[in-house]
Amino acid sequence: LRRNPGEPEFQQAVREVFESLEAIQDRHPEYQDHSILMRLCEPERQIIFRVPWVDDQGSVQINRGYRVEYNSALGPYKGGLRFHPSVNVGIVKFLGFEQIFKNSLTGLPIGGGKGGSDFDPHGRSDGEVMRFCQSFMTELHRHMGEYTDVPAGDIGVGAREIGYLFGQYKRLTNRYEAGVLTGKGLDWGGSLVRKEATGYGAAIFADEMLKARGSSVDGRRVAVSGSGNVALYAIEKVAQLGGIPVTASDSSGYVVDENGIDLALLQQIKEVERGRIHEYAERRGGGARFVNGGSVWDVPVDIALPGATQNELDIEAARTLVKNGVLAVSEGANMPCTPEAVSVFRAADVAFGPGKAANAGGVATSALEMQQNASRDAWSFEHTEQRLTEIMRGIHARCLETADEVGRPGDYVVGANVAGFRKVADAMIAFGVI
Ligand code: NDP
Repeated sequence: LRRNPGEPEFQQAVREVFESLEAIQDRHPEYQDHSILMRLCEPERQIIFRVPWVDDQGSVQINRGYRVEYNSALGPYKGGLRFHPSVNVGIVKFLGFEQIFKNSLTGLPIGGGKGGSDFDPHGRSDGEVMRFCQSFMTELHRHMGEYTDVPAGDIGVGAREIGYLFGQYKRLTNRYEAGVLTGKGLDWGGSLVRKEATGYGAAIFADEMLKARGSSVDGRRVAVSGSGNVALYAIEKVAQLGGIPVTASDSSGYVVDENGIDLALLQQIKEVERGRIHEYAERRGGGARFVNGGSVWDVPVDIALPGATQNELDIEAARTLVKNGVLAVSEGANMPCTPEAVSVFRAADVAFGPGKAANAGGVATSALEMQQNASRDAWSFEHTEQRLTEIMRGIHARCLETADEVGRPGDYVVGANVAGFRKVADAMIAFGVI
């Protein structure tokens, strides 16, 4: 960790995985003999580049682009691109590190990577976003390929951005290489259910955790944070499972809707109009209200699905949730709960699903998109959703079994970290020192 100063999120993610691995260190001296942990702390390759582009006023803007190709033991580097002003090398490394174990847990042949830029798409015109994406891809394309590195979306990167990125990749390489990016539009190589997959998966994971305790999402009040790709479809799946999603948020505040969030209205405001969350309360009327700032976790609920960003749920929020009787927390976002918050949930015996397990549905469906691209096929919604559901149930079962096996029953954090790690470590040993 001394080699990575000024990267608190990366250190936090590494520390959590290493703590979990203490449960197996005596049984697996070979991991120490092969310096697997030290090797895992160092990405295989990190690319940092200048992204120049011209705004609508004709001024030159400069952003910084990143791609951390973290680990390719199980397959090509796979992980999203994030466009947000907070992006820096430490954030991209933390996300890439988590992605290795998440992708391993899916059981699909994908390695771990992550990338992005400090570019902020909020308030930018379509033309500005397009010129930025084209400039970003002008550098990144030489590092990508369906057998090398396959990016996707993340915060600030949705279907529009993937379209501009794919268009520029195709133009620069003169290849229609559909499997080089995932999250594509349905008319040009995308997969049904990819858009919904992360949010659906996080809700399914919550349901599985509750079922393991003889309960379910049905009839439960659920708080969701965020109102982007993950949050919208977590809300949809919660409602399909019989739960009542009562909140959504963005960086300005949150809304509470006691009648259950009206998904069509929220999608219109967020996906179509790219508006702010207060507009939901204004247009919905009735029982909906907007809270400026504040913490969405103050709302009394049975289940929490954090779906916005890292470290958004701290120790105070966790204590409030526990005081209000929360039963399960399923991380739709990456590392949204601080380590202290996770300790509070553990102490209160709240079922806690860490992001690398609970939000793995998105990358799993990306891998299904790659399968469809490779076979020049397109699957139905029902078939793809069925595959997603099976994958989420499989991940849940693998976490529980592994936690049992290493003497930490019910601990999904340890289960996910150990199960994800073992496959990667064994492959690295098989490949020798490379
Ligand atoms: P989106 O950009 O679609 O939405 C992000 C949402 O979170 C927005 O409502 C945004 O509000 C809010 N948000 C972002 N940053 C902050 C912040 N610093 N403070 C408060 N609110 C914030 O992103 P996604 O839904 O794709 O991603 C959300 C999370 O899920 C991320 O952690 C991502 O890594 C993770 N994830 C996403 C996957 C996917 O398939 N998309 C897969 C697995 C994990 P505002 O618009 O105001 O910024």
